[in-house]
Parts: sequence; C-alpha cells; structure tokens
Amino acid sequence: MTPPPSGGDARSLVELDRALLWHPYSTIVDPPPVFAVTRADGVRIELADGTRLIDGMSSWWSVIHGYNHPRLNAAVEAQLASMAHVMFGGLTHEPAVRLAQRLVDITPAPLSTVFFSDSGSVAVEVALKMAIQYQAARGRPARQKLLTVRGGYHGDTFGAMSVCDPVTGMHTLFNAVLPAQVFAPRPACRFDGEWHESDIAETARLLAAHRDELAAVIIEPVVQGAGGMWFYHPQYLARLRELCDEHEVLLIADEIATGFGRTGRLFACEHAGISPDILCLGKALTGGYLTLAATLTTRVVAETISHGEPGVFMHGPTFMANALACSVALASIEVLLAQPWQSRIAAIERALAAGLAPCRDLPQVADVRTLGAIGVVELHRPVDMRALPPQFVARGVWVRPFGRLVYVMPAYIMDDADIATLTAAICEVVGSLR
Ligand SMILES: *Cc1c(COP(=O)(O)O)cnc(C)c1O
Repeated sequence: MTPPPSGGDARSLVELDRALLWHPYSTIVDPPPVFAVTRADGVRIELADGTRLIDGMSSWWSVIHGYNHPRLNAAVEAQLASMAHVMFGGLTHEPAVRLAQRLVDITPAPLSTVFFSDSGSVAVEVALKMAIQYQAARGRPARQKLLTVRGGYHGDTFGAMSVCDPVTGMHTLFNAVLPAQVFAPRPACRFDGEWHESDIAETARLLAAHRDELAAVIIEPVVQGAGGMWFYHPQYLARLRELCDEHEVLLIADEIATGFGRTGRLFACEHAGISPDILCLGKALTGGYLTLAATLTTRVVAETISHGEPGVFMHGPTFMANALACSVALASIEVLLAQPWQSRIAAIERALAAGLAPCRDLPQVADVRTLGAIGVVELHRPVDMRALPPQFVARGVWVRPFGRLVYVMPAYIMDDADIATLTAAICEVVGSLR
C-alpha cells in the first residue's frame, strides 16, 4: 500500500500524484513534471518549496480578480452559512435569481433567459440542444447540424468536440461517434487589420448550401482561444450575424473565454455591435472560484422551444445553479463592475504589448499579438511542453505554452512591474529556444 502524503512533503505528494492522477491532456506513463501548490494570493502562486510565481495564466482565463480575494471569499463563506446547494428541480434560491438578473442586465439585449450548468463544455452542449429543439419546434426537424469555423475550441464533450477544429480536436480518433458538422475556413483578416469582404465568402457559400440542415452557427467572437489564440476582424462577426438572419440559422456566441472584460469589452460580441441568439459563459463567471457556466438565450427562442415537442427543454444537471457558485459569481461581477475595468485592461494591454515587443525580432517568432488582457507569442515550431514550464518556474513565473503558442492572460489586478517580469521571462525563454 502507498502511504498517505506526509503534511507538506512536496516530493511524496508529487510522487503520489504521478501514481494516481490524470492531468489535463496528459499521459500517466512518464508524465511531464507537475508542481505542488500550497497557496495562492493575488497574482502569486506559492509552491511547496516556498517559490512564489507570478501567474500569467489566471488558471485558464478564470481568476480575473486574483487568488484569495477577500470579497469573493466572503461571498462563499456567507452563502455557506445558509446552504451550499439545493436541487434546482422545483426549487429556487436568491443567488440563482439575482445572478440571472445580473447576467441579463449586462449581456447584449435581447438575451433574457438563463440556463445554468456546471462547466463550459456543458454550456455548449446546452446551446447546441437549444438550437436543435428551436428548429424542430419551428417545424424544421432536419436542421440538426452546426456550422463553425476552423481553429475553434468549444470544449471536450462530444457535441462540443464536434465543433472544435477537426485536426486539433481529434476528430479522426472519435469519428464514429462524432456528428459531422460543416466547417468554414478560419477568418483570416486580423482584428486590427483591414477588412476584406472575401474573408466571409466561403462561409456565406456554405451557409447557403447547407441551410436546410443547419440549426445554428457556433463561434468564439473575435478571439479564438485554445484552438490557436487568433484575433480576427469584428466585421466577420457582423457579417455572420446578417447571414444567419438571412438563412434563419441561429447564432451561438461562445464567450466562455472572452466574457467579463478579457478582450477590452465586457463581452467580445460588443466589438462587432451584435447580439447572438444564444450566448455561452463560463471560466471567469465565478472569478475562478467554483465551476459554473451559463447559456443565455432570447425570449423568442425560449418560448419557441417551450411550445414545441416535448414541451420542455431537455437538460437538467444535478448541480444546476449551485448556490455557492452563484453567490461567488455575483460577487465577482460586482467586483469587476465596481472598478474602472476598461482602463485597467487597456493598461494591461499596453504593458503586454511593450513587454512582448522584443520577441518580434527573434528568429524563433512568427507573430506577436495582444488584445485586451491577452498576450500571444506565436512561434514557427511547436515548443517542448515538457521542458518549458520548468524554465518559466526557474524565472519566477507561471506560463503554460501549447503547440506553437506561448501566451498569457493575467488577472486584471496585475501591475506593470509584474507584467514586465512576466513578459521578460517569456522573451528570455523563447529567445533561448533552439
Ligand atoms: C474553456 C472553453 C470551453 C470549455 O469549458 P470547460 O469549462 O473547460 O468545459 C468552451 N469554449 C471555450 C471558448 C473555452 O475557452
């Protein structure tokens, strides 16, 4: 038998971890190193050996206000004193209702009804089911497919996976169980570049050709996240909205990564001045405290589904609208909106752009781009995911690259000095690559 970890013994903890645990997209045979974390405050992650790291990842977009935040801690503690959770079938509670109201108030009109679930992937599944049920209720049961663009990422469950990029999303491996969707090219015009109408031409053609089998288009507005950290022109989104209306296909905006200010607007759809028919939120929704996601839709879509067969929306997670998660989400939104978040994000964008600029001259680097509180260095060749994290840790920062991308999306509280340290470490590590 393996003995339990002795308190604070990082070595045995990591050894036990290797024996017992899967990590995201990892192997259990000779796995890459993991670092044991003992606490986290603000933008600092503290390792078991006392090393303190400047966190560049916000734990995958989610920890927007930093770790161990007094207001968020207090929200969880206050809610815990009355109840942690109660089933949402036939019961309701104040945190869920107040959070739904808040989300409807801050998201683009006419989004007005909210479905809570437990993770981003499930929020996407819910969105896909809403779109299919909506079309069936309108007397178009053949409209069950989705159109999306290449280079997207929408989650790891089967429906979500079917709309991820077909290559990086491993469609070959799972082809017998994945529904075949319609893929348009990735938008090519850069966010800050010139718009060319030709960028949407193939998408327009595919939409027209497949309209009778399409329930919806799903897309990450303006920023494609895990599928390649690509920032495309908002006009693409504006044109896509028009095309969806023309063909009576719903538009699903997956703002699980971009929501809550990350791109400089509260929601990335605002860059194009559009509103989707269905909106997915997750990640930063609870400030990174608890797992919660939301799928919002319009009254028209919700009522159409409710008037169709079987007269209800067919989804209902056990932990739907978890009270602790709803309470901390409310507190996180209040903390965000109570501060001049636009100028904060603009300051982070300037600091990231200045700090990453030296990377542009490196022969290893293909592109450097920043938008809001996101900084990306794209390399010519994939990095060694095993070798790089320890090099970042040695420089006092936490950065987790993938593929050809070294990227950061810091908490909104990170100051210029920490951003300078973080970006200098990236330039150094990237510059040392052979
Ligand atoms: C992370 C992410 C998801 C999946 O969310 P999970 O909570 O990991 O299931 C879906 N869409 C986008 C755009 C994401 O960034």
